[in-house]
Amino acid sequence: MPEGNELHRWAKMQTEAFGGKKVRVEGPNGRFADAVLLDGRVLREVMAVGKHIGYDFGKDRKLHVHMGLYGDFTEGTGPAPEMRGALRLRISTKSDWLELRGPTDCSVWTDEQWEALKARLGPDPLNDDDPERGFQAILAKKTTSIGALLMDQTVFSGIGNIYRAEFLFRARVSPFRAGAQMTREELKAIWKDALKLMPEGMVDRRIVTTKPPDRPHSKGPALDEEVNYVYRRKGKPCFVCGTKIEMKVMAGRNLFWCPTCQAA
Ligand SMILES: [Zn+2]
Repeated sequence: MPEGNELHRWAKMQTEAFGGKKVRVEGPNGRFADAVLLDGRVLREVMAVGKHIGYDFGKDRKLHVHMGLYGDFTEGTGPAPEMRGALRLRISTKSDWLELRGPTDCSVWTDEQWEALKARLGPDPLNDDDPERGFQAILAKKTTSIGALLMDQTVFSGIGNIYRAEFLFRARVSPFRAGAQMTREELKAIWKDALKLMPEGMVDRRIVTTKPPDRPHSKGPALDEEVNYVYRRKGKPCFVCGTKIEMKVMAGRNLFWCPTCQAA
């Protein structure tokens, strides 16, 4: 599943290619019948909120896309290629095209629906939102763990499985600690970390969260196996203390942590 930073990157690239232009919108083989509501209209802007993307085609014509686990875009310049596979949506001009496959949702929403979504989602570090609402939601939870809360899109939006593991490691916080046991200072530090790391986002299609001095090879770019402290490093030695990284399912996804650096 793409993390919020990747959705924001797509939204920005797609706004650059299509923003302010009249576009062709197609949903081949009836896979997106409402394409006719948007076809030939001006696409004003592409917005990302948490893990949702919205295409603004004017009043009550917001195309909502949620990528889910399998959604993916393909993009290119020049004439669009022949339609193939389970293509849900294609947006194109004479010079650019993009195709969407496998999303959980692709439907036309009213402005009210889009605003309701924004109100329901927690603050998004990539939209420069005020984090206070998210802090309060966490501090109010007496039993839910911080590891689960960081994945809850109504607490903060756009933080996915890689970032939750890495933010908690970098803050040296146990993922099993209850929300109410977090301090405001710790939450501020995690938010600040998110503001720094998420815009840096993908480097060569990798999310890099390790500091160079902590990597086994501290000189030069990070090797694939040292881009993250704990994510997907089950059984491997922690870069900081050497303890084996552990893994457990939490909030439906594999959670990774160092039992020493992040002692309960
Ligand atoms: Zn450690």
